[in-house]
Amino acid sequence: MKYLYVLFAFLILPWSTQAQDYKQEREKMVSEQIARRGIKHVQTLDAMRKVERHLFVPPGNTRMAYADSPLAIGYGQTISQPYIVAYMTQIIEPKSTHKILEIGTGSGYQAAVLAEIVDKVYTIEIVPELGETATDRLRKLGYDNVEVIKADGYNGLEEHAPFDAIVVTAASEHIPPSLIQQLKEGGKMIIPVGSPFLVQTLMLVEKKKGKLSTSSLMPVRFVPFTRSRE
Ligand code: SAH
Repeated sequence: MKYLYVLFAFLILPWSTQAQDYKQEREKMVSEQIARRGIKHVQTLDAMRKVERHLFVPPGNTRMAYADSPLAIGYGQTISQPYIVAYMTQIIEPKSTHKILEIGTGSGYQAAVLAEIVDKVYTIEIVPELGETATDRLRKLGYDNVEVIKADGYNGLEEHAPFDAIVVTAASEHIPPSLIQQLKEGGKMIIPVGSPFLVQTLMLVEKKKGKLSTSSLMPVRFVPFTRSRE
C-alpha cells in the first residue's frame, strides 16, 4: 500500500503542479512565438515569462491560454495574441519610472505585463463587467500599481496626464485627439487604426519637440474601439 502511495505521488504530483503554474508553457510561448519572431527587449521577455496568462482567460479556455492566437474573454472581446502583447510592449520602450495609459483593459493581461516593468499603469475599460473582473483579478494577483477605470477611454485620463506612453488595444478609425494631447514630450503611443471588422494598421505615434511623427508597423485585427452613448 505504502508503495502505491509513493507511485501515486510520482505519477500525479509532477503533472498536477505543472498543470497549475504552466511555467513550461510560458517558456515555450516566449521562445517559440516571441523571441523567435524578433522580440529582444529583456524586460518584455521577462514579463511575458512571469505573468500567468492562464489566469486571465475564462476557465474553459485555460488549456488554450498559451496558444499562438487571441482568445475570447466574453462580451465579444478578446485577449490579444501573446506576440502582439509583447510587440506592443517592446515598441513603447517601457522604463521602470514610466506612467502608462492603456485603453481597453479587457482581461487585464496587457496591463499586468506592463505593470511588471513600469511604475504605474492606468487602464480604461468601457464594458463595466470586464472592468470589474479585471480589477478583482489584478488585485488578487498583487498588481497594486495598476488602476482600472470603468469608462469610455476616448478622452483619455486628463487628471493623470501626461503619460510616458499610451497603449490602445481596440481599433479606432482615427487617433483620438485627447490621447495625443496627453502624451508626454518624447512619448510613444501604439494604436491599431482602421475600420472595425477589417484589417487595421498598427501605428506608432511619437511626439518629438511638440511635433507628431507616425509610422505604420503591421497589419493587425483588433476588436472595435466603441463609444459610450452619453
Ligand atoms: N488589452 C486587453 C485586450 C482587450 S480587447 C487584454 O490584454 O486582454 C479591447 C478592449 O477594449 C475590450 O475589452 C473592449 O471592451 C475595450 N474597449 C473598446 N472601446 C473602448 C473605449 N472607448 N474605452 C475603453 N475600452 C474600450
